[in-house]
Amino acid sequence: MMNMGYKIVDFNEKADVYIINTCTVTNMADKKSRQILRRVKEINPKSILVACGCYAQVAKKELEKIPEIDLILGINEKNEIEKYIENAMNSKQNITQVSEVANQKEFLDFGAVTYTEKTRAVIKVQDGCNQFCSYCIIPYARGRIRSRKPQSVLDEIQKISMQGIKEVVITGIHVASYGKDFLQDNNPTEEANTSYYLIDLLEDIQKIDRIKRIRLGSLEPSLITKEFTTRLSKLSKICNQFHLSLQSGCNSTLKRMNRKYTIEDFENGVNLLRQAFPNVHITTDIIVGFPGETDEEFKQTYEFLSKIKFYKMHIFKYSPRKGTVAANMPNQIDGNKKEERSNLLIELSNKNEEDFQKQYIGKQIEVLFEDKEGEYFKGHTANYMVAKLKTNENLENVIKKVEVAGTKNLELICKEISEQM
Ligand code: SF4
Repeated sequence: MMNMGYKIVDFNEKADVYIINTCTVTNMADKKSRQILRRVKEINPKSILVACGCYAQVAKKELEKIPEIDLILGINEKNEIEKYIENAMNSKQNITQVSEVANQKEFLDFGAVTYTEKTRAVIKVQDGCNQFCSYCIIPYARGRIRSRKPQSVLDEIQKISMQGIKEVVITGIHVASYGKDFLQDNNPTEEANTSYYLIDLLEDIQKIDRIKRIRLGSLEPSLITKEFTTRLSKLSKICNQFHLSLQSGCNSTLKRMNRKYTIEDFENGVNLLRQAFPNVHITTDIIVGFPGETDEEFKQTYEFLSKIKFYKMHIFKYSPRKGTVAANMPNQIDGNKKEERSNLLIELSNKNEEDFQKQYIGKQIEVLFEDKEGEYFKGHTANYMVAKLKTNENLENVIKKVEVAGTKNLELICKEISEQM
């Protein structure tokens, strides 16, 4: 759209077109999407209001009840959004264009459009998910797994590396599945029937000179085999921080969640990563209060988490999502219990993070600096610790070795190495 002459303005400014890219991951996300869609026309009643994204994909009927919306677009339609907007501008009627996402077999490539922060770029290489976890709406909203063609990924990274970006984050809905669809007979892409997986892609990204760090989005235990970690550990640019989504540390809860691994498989994956990468930090997501989670099951989770000792855990209180299997399960857990369990795990996570960070005091670390914050420059280490250095220098997008002087509020406070000499 920018190529066509459109300009992005701040959300509260008057605009001719408002595009609300909705989320549907929880019932609350749906509610927030509806609220914001109702508010927009107060800013400019004559504007074109577009609802797209996952909520539009799964609930077009609900959105059609909001008369302010001019255009409802599904996931497949999003990359021709400019065409639909021009149509909506010339039409007097509200338009809904949502095709069946499950029929989409190929990754819809947005080409050179990359979300770029100051120092890192997030590269989407995969869409869709075939896992159908019992609490999750994503497979219905995003359809089956589709991988982006390797050459398109590599061209984009090459391009952004020329703009000075040093770190890329490789992401997708289920990035561990990257390449699995290339093998399917009905896939019309030129890569059909050749095997090319995530590890092959990472090996090719490693060869791009100006990229210094490759970070991986959320992985899952089934991907972490001896062969994978052996090949991965040979790639010098891979950040030694991995996010392995666990969700529960209790096998019976995992089964009800329809997760496809056991805690034993998970532990095996963690051990392989720890053997392959020194100082690796492993982070995870946990859902507390999943339907039927007894005190005993939670205790098992707590014990497993204490044993694994993650660097950091993102704790989510289970919230039923309409249209999923878990939303109709018996024994939904009371809100206070969820709160109590969540607090216990947050406490454990903070303690782990602090313990890990303290081990670095007096050691030298390499930081990719991002932003100035007061008198400090702030950045991340490869294993994703937040580090701060008091300096007058402009360190934006600079990778620099510093020494850890101490920790404060779960951040490393660093000093120049020469100060000590
Ligand atoms: S793996 Fe499970 S939680 Fe993740 S997107 Fe797929 S269905 Fe949802």
